[in-house]
Amino acid sequence: MGSIVLKKVSKVFGEAKVIPSIDLDINDGEFVVFVGPSGCGKSTLLRLIAGLEDVSSGQILIDGKDGTNLAPSERRLAMVFQSYALYPHMSVRKNIAFPLKMANLPQAEIDKKVAEAARVLNLTDYLERKPRQLSGGQRQRVAIGRAIVRQPVAFLFDEPLSNLDAALRVNMRLEISELHNQLKTTMIYVTHDQVEAMTMADKIVVLNRGNVEQVGSPLELYRSPQNLFVAGFIGSPK
Ligand code: ADP
Ligand code: MG
Repeated sequence: MGSIVLKKVSKVFGEAKVIPSIDLDINDGEFVVFVGPSGCGKSTLLRLIAGLEDVSSGQILIDGKDGTNLAPSERRLAMVFQSYALYPHMSVRKNIAFPLKMANLPQAEIDKKVAEAARVLNLTDYLERKPRQLSGGQRQRVAIGRAIVRQPVAFLFDEPLSNLDAALRVNMRLEISELHNQLKTTMIYVTHDQVEAMTMADKIVVLNRGNVEQVGSPLELYRSPQNLFVAGFIGSPK
């Protein structure tokens, strides 16, 4: 259902070859973390997968089918943004229901899906509030709720916790991991934070200057970093 395969994907902005050529296999249900220093191309890679940027060359397979030229809405991938992008004048209920309204679903079905998303995200008691009446973590959950109701084949997160304070970050990290355990949907999670990568990932993709340095489980990267960059970045012995 949620496999994503990149074949020789590249991205050039003007003169800058931001992604020279990436091959990558993401399996259905995996929690994959893209990690690397600021400016290494993490967001660009995620935006290519989401269809928010066009590839310069190469192919992206989503669920086994060629998705390279599909519009973002046709890829059935849910991008959860750092800035939440909630509608301030709408209640939590209406924010979560919005994509379903746009899809013209019957009201009874919308109510059911919103109730289910709210239950999974512990937002049931907050459905009538406006975003400004919520904490940062709750707003983040509403943004995730709006993604969940569309039943995406994968969730894409771009540094979703960087606006939150340290304590809340740890909390939300656990919540997102728990959500993955419940939904078992493929998740791609971008961060520059090694600890986040090591604690959340099934599979870590270490990026450096638009290249994949290594792909492996947290334990594999820790025990057998392939080069000094990975060792230095992950903080493992080499
Ligand atoms: P990261 O998310 O890892 O911090 P980005 O993917 O945002 O890195 O950026 C990677 C590189 O691509 C940076 O050098 C950035 O300046 C460049 N870049 C990103 N988007 C654009 C764009 N729309 N036009 C030109 N250069 C861009
Ligand atoms: Mg970024």
